[in-house]
Amino acid sequence: MRKAIVAVVGRPNVGKSTLFNTIAGKQISIVEDTPGVTRDRIYAEASWLNYHFTLVDTGGIEPVSDDVLLKQMRSQAELAIDTADVIIFVTDVRSGVVDADYEVANMLRKSKKPVVLCVNKVDSVKKFGNDIYEFYSLALGEPFAVSSANHMGIGDLLEAVVQHFPKEGEATEEDDRLKIALIGKPNVGKSSLTNKLLGENRVIVSDIAGTTRDAIDTEIIHNGVPYVFIDTAGLRRKGRVTEDIERYSVIRTVSAVDRADICIVLLDATEGITDGDTRIAGIAHESGKGVILAVNKWDLVEKDDKTMQEFTKKLREKFSYMDYAEILFISAETGQRTQKIFEMVDRIHENQVLRIKTGVLNEIMARATAMKQPPSDKGKRLKLFYITQASVSPPTFVIFVNDRELMHFSYTRYIENQIRENFGFRGTPIRFIIRERG
Ligand code: GDP
Ligand code: GDP
Repeated sequence: MRKAIVAVVGRPNVGKSTLFNTIAGKQISIVEDTPGVTRDRIYAEASWLNYHFTLVDTGGIEPVSDDVLLKQMRSQAELAIDTADVIIFVTDVRSGVVDADYEVANMLRKSKKPVVLCVNKVDSVKKFGNDIYEFYSLALGEPFAVSSANHMGIGDLLEAVVQHFPKEGEATEEDDRLKIALIGKPNVGKSSLTNKLLGENRVIVSDIAGTTRDAIDTEIIHNGVPYVFIDTAGLRRKGRVTEDIERYSVIRTVSAVDRADICIVLLDATEGITDGDTRIAGIAHESGKGVILAVNKWDLVEKDDKTMQEFTKKLREKFSYMDYAEILFISAETGQRTQKIFEMVDRIHENQVLRIKTGVLNEIMARATAMKQPPSDKGKRLKLFYITQASVSPPTFVIFVNDRELMHFSYTRYIENQIRENFGFRGTPIRFIIRERG
């Protein structure tokens, strides 16, 4: 089941960032050492009770004048409507309901998306309790009194939010088709690649439940097998203010990656590797999905017999934390190597669902520890007792050790390399859970 996306919207200064940080808390899970992934918290992985979701801050409104404010708020609400499963609309008890709140409330209501109304800054129910009632006039149902700053009312608010999540076991239609997200900064050639793949294969533009309006899902049948491509370029909204294009593209990427099995990160060969690319690739990496780094516009590059090798080396350096990623040099214009995508995606998927027998894993680990002694600290040496594969997509292994503190990142990495040497797992990250056994 995919993770739900929850977006926070509201006027400037009502306390959106404060609420965002309160909900995300310490759980902000940016995989450490993913360079280039900014920490400005456009999105965060959050959880409450047993629910895990992606929290999105549609933020970034500069109140210049009333006109501009309204325009920006509309654009922010659109972004939330496009990408979120549930929207938290934040208002401020101290300012009461203002005109801009009605505007946004109308938009949200029309969208038919689930909305939870948060009345923030209710630091004292005694003092402000009666001021809540006026918020019923927004016609968004029950207002939830919250003090983000004091962590009050958050539980009730989230309780209302998670009610709108898809229920466990609720028959989401069984769908065996591989889903592939085409991601990348603007103009790298996402639409061109979709069109090229469309032109060369049989196509059904499908209407898939849960499809956000802004990402177009296209079913492409290749050699009789259906694949779904999620194109984040898709429709471009008219009149979007330029400042939020970056944010918009990040949020859309997060939501596309969320629904995909495998991500194709497109890069523009003529531009080299930019910060924008690093940021987008980081989103794919953190998701645990399969990854192909596809260097597009290869037709425009002047090359000799070393060019591809040199570009590959640069990619490996820049994306050293995701050396499992496959690399492909393509041209969406000429179609060079674009058909290889299918073959590669199939292979990656096989790796994502590969299960290794426990006996074999323990043999590999025994050999590995014999070849390279585990680290020790203050006279205590790390012992690795047992390894087993706990799950797939991504393949996840549990290693039982005597002392977790002694299991350094570099030694986990060493074990990972040993496993990869034997089984490859190309194209997919693999993960480790370290457990202590007395
Ligand atoms: P945003 O512009 O909507 O993201 O608002 P911020 O989160 O930046 O908050 C705006 C101001 O409201 C800051 O000064 C916060 O400290 C304050 N604030 C946020 N939540 C609360 C709250 O629950 N109670 C009070 N009294 N102040 C709050
Ligand atoms: P998107 O914003 O990522 O969807 O990028 P587009 O597909 O709109 O492509 C941006 C521009 O790059 C367009 O002018 C395309 O024609 C051009 N383009 C895309 N892929 C290639 C390619 O492989 N070779 C060349 N020469 N141009 C390309």
